[in-house]
Amino acid sequence: MSIPKKFYNLADDIIFHVENSDTEIIQNRYPIKDLPKLKHHARDKRNMKYGNNLYVRGCLDFSNNCEKSCSFCGLSKSNIGLVRYTLQADEMIQCIDEIMNLGIKNLHLVGGEINRDWTFLFDTVSYAHSKGIETTIVAGELDVNLYDELKARGATRYILKFETSNPRLYTKHKSGKELCERVAHLLQLREMGYKIGTGNIVGLPETTINDFYRDLLLIDCLKFAYLVQLLLGSITRSLNTSV
Ligand code: SF4
Repeated sequence: MSIPKKFYNLADDIIFHVENSDTEIIQNRYPIKDLPKLKHHARDKRNMKYGNNLYVRGCLDFSNNCEKSCSFCGLSKSNIGLVRYTLQADEMIQCIDEIMNLGIKNLHLVGGEINRDWTFLFDTVSYAHSKGIETTIVAGELDVNLYDELKARGATRYILKFETSNPRLYTKHKSGKELCERVAHLLQLREMGYKIGTGNIVGLPETTINDFYRDLLLIDCLKFAYLVQLLLGSITRSLNTSV
């Protein structure tokens, strides 16, 4: 099953808003030039949520196969010198047992974006869930049915970075893919009840400081997607009409 149209529409509205927001207003909203202040603010936020504790997660890179060729990624299919692998189901279970023995309660399952047989991953997520381990998936854009099944097996978080809020550079660095598609997947995952993780790449070639500010705005729009949905819908439509 593919992503419903309503998420593409909302993604379009959000991207339009991010692209057309006044740069000065965005810069005032995120005073990132005052680095000491920013550092203190980040520390306060962290302490509020996690205190002064160290949390460890197990990161299981189950496969480095990928059928995409993003310009910045070592797993890109154009990296023909890379030796490729995919773990077997029993190897995954063994890793989870080791994670469990170490008292780690958080697992990240990481793999490239590729059309694969997902059965062994479903079983892995179920097994981790049965051992009280919370699983996050990092495997690119998938079919909605796969998101659904992974969630039913116990996956709680999904990480999908948008890399840059600049649609032109997104398409350039993500080998022709569209930013709208990415944002639509994030909105879909969020509606399904996943905790979503996303983010940008600082210093992606050709991006500017204004792109970086817009990245921050896009993160906020995703965070409050349903609050801004009503606002953006009407604002965007009126802007589109007047252009
Ligand atoms: S889809 Fe993900 S893993 Fe594949 S090349 Fe792009 S960034 Fe790398």
